[in-house]
Amino acid sequence: MQIALNEAELALQEGEIPVGAVVVRNGSILAQEHNRKEQHSDASAHAEVLAIRMAGKKLNTWRLDGASLYVTTEPCMMCWGAILEARIGRVVYGTPSNSSIKHFSFEQYSLPSLHHIQVIGGVAEEEARNLIQDFFRKLRKNTKQRRGGRVDEGVRLETGNPSAKDGSGVRIPPSPKKAR
Ligand SMILES: [Zn+2]
Repeated sequence: MQIALNEAELALQEGEIPVGAVVVRNGSILAQEHNRKEQHSDASAHAEVLAIRMAGKKLNTWRLDGASLYVTTEPCMMCWGAILEARIGRVVYGTPSNSSIKHFSFEQYSLPSLHHIQVIGGVAEEEARNLIQDFFRKLRKNTKQRRGGRVDEGVRLETGNPSAKDGSGVRIPPSPKKAR
């Protein structure tokens, strides 16, 4: 998990949402990656997906039976799909996902076919959560500086929103009441 956290740090330095992932099998690291959604302009360039691709290339097969995936944040629905397709046997994640927009928890996404995957959550949870919180704190600060105004603490940030007037991709509702 420490290697996954290091990858998440790299993502943070690159201005990406800090998520890191590592694929391990038989005690060897097959792949380590981090979120590259902005760099690749690719909505599917999540750390888990990139790590699964890299591991597959290394082994020259998409079948990663018996492999474990370590990821700093609970995977989203797309990544659970990739984990399932790659036949990864075990997932160890750090902080639970708390974004209801983009993420679905493992419990919610209860396909019978997912149930054979061993899932362990809350490993190095605090470190993983701190990275994510740092990222959004900086994002709020930057937005505040650009606008020269106050940003409410409880503001909802929506990344990639085309309606953002300043082109930042971040829409700040005028008041919490008016926010949908
Ligand atoms: Zn994902």
